[in-house]
This record gives sequence, C-alpha cells and structure tokens, in this order.
Amino acid sequence: MIEYSIFEKNLSQVRARIALACESCGRASDTVSLLPVTKNHPVAAVDYALRSGLLAVGENRVQEAADKQGSCLQPVSWELIGHLQSNKAQDAVAIFDRIQSVDSLKLLRRLNRIAGEQGKLLRILLQCNTGEDPNKFGFLVSQAEEVLEAGLEAAHLEVEGLMTIAPLDEDPTVASAAFQRLRDLRDELAGSFGVPLSELSMGMTGDLEAAIAAGSTQIRVGTALYGQRAYL
Ligand SMILES: *Cc1c(COP(=O)(O)O)cnc(C)c1O
Repeated sequence: MIEYSIFEKNLSQVRARIALACESCGRASDTVSLLPVTKNHPVAAVDYALRSGLLAVGENRVQEAADKQGSCLQPVSWELIGHLQSNKAQDAVAIFDRIQSVDSLKLLRRLNRIAGEQGKLLRILLQCNTGEDPNKFGFLVSQAEEVLEAGLEAAHLEVEGLMTIAPLDEDPTVASAAFQRLRDLRDELAGSFGVPLSELSMGMTGDLEAAIAAGSTQIRVGTALYGQRAYL
C-alpha cells in the first residue's frame, strides 16, 4: 500500500485531470464527482479517502466491503460497482448505501423485495452495457425502457441514474462511443419517463476524459489514486 503523501499527490493529479477535461468541454469542474475505488486494497485505502475529505468509496465484492466496514471507524458511504450474485443480494442491501451495478430485471426485482423486507429505500443505478461488450455485465439499450419502468414502479428502490463500463480497447473512440450512447440513452429516458436520472456514472483511470466530455457526473477511479491493485 502506498503512503498517504503519495495518495494526496495522486489525488491532486486526478483533480487536475478532471478540471482540464471539464474546461475543454465547457463544464464546471464541480459537476463531476470522484468515487475512489478501494477494491483489492486494504482498509487503509478507505481511511485515505476519508482523510482527504472524500465521502464515498466504491467496492466490487460484498464480502470484501463487509470486512472493511468492520474495521473502518468513521462513517463513509459504500457503493457497490461490481456484479452482484443473487445469493449475496441480502447482504449487499444491508451494507451498501447505493448499488450501481443493477444489471438485470431479475436482480432489480430481488433488490426491491429485500429492501422492503429490510425497511429501506435503496438507491440504485441501472448498469447498461452500451459498448455491447460480451465480457461486461449490464442490460442492453433495447431493454432499457422495460428495466427503468420496473425500477420506477419498485416501491423500495430509488433509481438515480445510469452506469456503464466502457469496453477495453486500444481505439479510444470505442470508449467515447459507449459513453455517448449512455448519455443519449439517459436523455431519451429522462424525456420519455419525465424523471431526472441525474447520475451518469462513467469513466475510470484510463478513460475519464472521454467520459467527462460525454457528460459523466461521476468517475470511478482506482489505479490513478492507489496504484496497481494487489489481487488478493
Ligand atoms: C475497478 C473498477 C474501477 C476502477 O478502475 P481503474 O481503472 O483502476 O480506475 C471503476 N469501475 C468499476 C466498475 C471497476 O470495477
């Protein structure tokens, strides 16, 4: 694990990238939030985020997040950004403040039922595979209306927006196109359903500039903040 001073330096570099990307497309830099991704790093990564004033962290596995919560003393918001298996849904609803990776109708219905049982209003994002990457989870653009309709009808879920992970490709236009498609989809759905869907979670270490240019409101960054992940 890197020293805190290195993390601070990395954080200011990431903030400079955000500021420059925003400037290039005429956006105010406070319209993009930064979610530090602490997966595969020790709980110190969460402590660093808190110490620097960040208020939420992203994790991709339920058990790993639960373990960190157990040893983290201060309050922080926990966001699930990885695929959720149905047998872990119960625990996920209990420990996460928001689930960004709602990638199927079946999962959405299950989360609604569990949130109801736990007496919670669960905040979610709908993960859409706009890059049509066979290696990625997420519903297809053609399913978006049906999934959103179910999400809006679900009494125990609050749909805050959309999330995507761009395909890994040497050609940067591939990620740009996937981000732009998520933005267009959001605009269409927001118009036809009359809901804001204001969160667009897209962009990571390698493609955050392209995501910001396409309208990202939240980038999820691991490597640029914490260095390479140790695959635990
Ligand atoms: C790991 C992960 C990230 C962070 O990726 P980096 O390239 O390390 O910034 C962002 N989003 C999701 C969904 C991830 O799983």
